[in-house]
Amino acid sequence: MAQPVPVLVTGGAGYIGSHAVLALLDAGWPVAVIDNLTTGFRFAVPDGVPFYEGDVADADLLARIFAEQGTRAVMHFAGSIVVPESVSDPLKYYLNNTVKSRALIEAAVAAGVPHFIFSSTAATYGIPSVPAVTEETPTVPINPYGWSKLMTERMLADTAFAHPLNYCALRYFNVAGADPQGRSGQSTAGATHLIKIAVEAALGKRDSVQVFGTDYATPDGTGVRDYIHVSDLASAHVLALEALIDRADRSLTMNCGYGRGFSVFEVLDAVDRVTNLKLTRVVSPRRPGDADSLVSDPARLKATLPWVPRHADLDGIVADALQWERKLAELRG
Ligand code: UDP
Repeated sequence: MAQPVPVLVTGGAGYIGSHAVLALLDAGWPVAVIDNLTTGFRFAVPDGVPFYEGDVADADLLARIFAEQGTRAVMHFAGSIVVPESVSDPLKYYLNNTVKSRALIEAAVAAGVPHFIFSSTAATYGIPSVPAVTEETPTVPINPYGWSKLMTERMLADTAFAHPLNYCALRYFNVAGADPQGRSGQSTAGATHLIKIAVEAALGKRDSVQVFGTDYATPDGTGVRDYIHVSDLASAHVLALEALIDRADRSLTMNCGYGRGFSVFEVLDAVDRVTNLKLTRVVSPRRPGDADSLVSDPARLKATLPWVPRHADLDGIVADALQWERKLAELRG
C-alpha cells in the first residue's frame, strides 16, 4: 500500500474539499490547504493544517507552497459550482474552472508534483440516455459548468501524456450529507441543492420545499438522482491517490455514486422520517436543464479501488446533513 505523501488540497475550506482534508488527516497524510475564501470558510480548515489564503492561479504562491510543504500530490477542489450561474456568466466558469486549473497544472508540472486528483462532475455527461451512466457514456455537457470541467479533464489527459504526472478525474454525482462526527458540512448560503434545502426547511429557515416538476419519466414523476455521502466521496479520493502512487504509469477517470437513484419525493419522505415533520411541498414547474434521471454505474470505481461505502443509507445522509445544519445555526448565532 502507498505510503502517505504531502498533499495540497485546493478549495480545502469548501464543502467537499474540507471533507477530503478530514479523510486525509484521519488516514495519516500530511495536508496543506490553499483557498481564496470566496466561497470557503476558514473555520472549515482544522487547526494545525497549514493554510494559504490565495489563488490557485498564483504561480509564485504555488511554487512557494510546493517547496515549503514538499508537496507530492494535489487534490483540486477549488472552483465554481453553480450551474445556472455558469449559463449566465460562462466566462467566470471558464476562468475559475478551466483557466485557473491550467495554471495550477502548469505549476504542478514545473515543481515536479507527480500526482493530481481532480473534482469533476456528472455534468460532463449532460443528459444521458442510459439508465446507469458509465465512464464510456458520451460526454456532452449541456452547460458551461460541465464544459469547464470537461476541458480540464482534457488538459490533464494531455499533460499526463507529455509529463511525468498521473491524474484521477472523479466525476461526482449528487454529493450530500456532512461529516458524521460534525466536524464539517455544507456551509454556503443560498444553497440550491435538494437535501440542503430540505434540512433548512426542517429547521424553519424556509417555509416549504419546491418540487421542480412532477411529470418526469420516472416512477413517481419527480427527478431521480444518485446521492452520495460526502464522507464516502472523500474516502474515494484518498484511495484514488493511493492508486495513483501505486501505479504511476496509469491515470483514471471514475464515476462517484452508489449506483442507485432516489426521487425528489423519496428524499423528502426521508427528511420527514428523520425529522418527524411533514415538510410543506410546493409542486413547481420543471427547472430548465434538469434531467429526468441521473444515476451512476460505479462498477469501475468499485473494481479499481478497495472502496467500501460506509454512509450510503439515505436517512443517514439526511441525518448528517441535519446535524450539520443545526451546528451551523449555532456557529452563526
Ligand atoms: N430539486 C427540487 N427542489 C429543490 C431543489 C432540487 O425539486 O429545491 C430537484 C431537482 O429538480 C433535481 C433534484 O432535486 O431533480 C436534485 O437537484 P439538486 O439541485 O440537488 O442537484 P442537481 O441534480 O441539479 O445537481
